[in-house]
Amino acid sequence: ADDAMYRVKRDQEPRGASERVPAAADPADELARAVRDGEMRVVYQPLVDLRSGRPTGAEALVRWEHPVDGLRTPDRFLGLAERTGLVVEIGALVLREACTQAARWTAARPDATGLTVTVNVSARQLSAPGFTDDVRAVLADTGLAARHLVLEVTETALMEDQETAAATLRRLRALGVRIAVDDFGTGYSSLAYLSRFPVDLLKVAREFVSRAGEDGDDDAITRAIVDLAGTLGLLTVAEGVETARQYEFVTALGCDLAQGHLFARPVPAEVVHAILTGVEGTPRPAGAAPSPAV
Ligand code: C2E
Ligand code: MG
Ligand code: MG
Ligand code: MG
Repeated sequence: ADDAMYRVKRDQEPRGASERVPAAADPADELARAVRDGEMRVVYQPLVDLRSGRPTGAEALVRWEHPVDGLRTPDRFLGLAERTGLVVEIGALVLREACTQAARWTAARPDATGLTVTVNVSARQLSAPGFTDDVRAVLADTGLAARHLVLEVTETALMEDQETAAATLRRLRALGVRIAVDDFGTGYSSLAYLSRFPVDLLKVAREFVSRAGEDGDDDAITRAIVDLAGTLGLLTVAEGVETARQYEFVTALGCDLAQGHLFARPVPAEVVHAILTGVEGTPRPAGAAPSPAV
């Protein structure tokens, strides 16, 4: 569907090859061109259920396939996308592509009730009027049941316009979509807001996980987050698990899910499809050779 969309846009604005990468283009123009020309890609990092060891879904992560540089990670362009507002268009492309893929996973895996795709939502998207309608339309178009979609927001996005954010999250929840707070512990971390916003999952920020078992204060924070989540009935995801020690630590604390290089790096759609539908070996901490990073 996305390819078709790009093609339509390209047909409307035919561009010669020499025009594609103008020398010394303004970075904002260059990013706008890239979005228009269909250079945004989506890769997927599996999430693993820490009790069963099975992959239960994947997080969609945007990449820019730059014609000269190759794949660029979001740290190279997401700030500019935020400032120019292009992040709204990029986010819409990622959402549609991710739901398209997830509809394939759920069709291919018989026990797919718990299978989820996780999509990052920027503050700009969250506050845009009609975001809920966009999500509803994407679910309808792709045939993905809402229970398979998790939207990730940051604490900062929630805090920017609390009333609007809370209202939008309630509408999304009413659709059956679940909400995760990304990088939990790095933003305001006002515990009070967790009761104000309808939230289903907390993702423990990588900076806490990465020092697991090494720093008493970080460990105490991680433990407090997991305990709090349990009390509030929320699931926890440990982000950025890289070592067996971190894996053992977050498992012992009672985290529900984990993602990180120990299990799998972000991979293209075909690879995550194979992982999630059982064609490729289950990512387990022991043994699984790291997939090539993208
Ligand atoms: P995030 O949502 O917290 O995503 C997790 C990031 O941590 C990803 O970086 C992932 O590749 C990286 N990561 C995962 N496991 C490990 C690990 O074990 N070690 C280390 N060192 N890193 C790990 P990535 O893909 O570069 O994305 C960076 C951030 O860009 C994301 O952080 C998210 O905030 C943002 N982002 C990515 N895709 C999108 C998108 O489609 N829309 C929006 N609005 N933001 C996005
Ligand atoms: Mg995220
Ligand atoms: Mg995160
Ligand atoms: Mg992050």
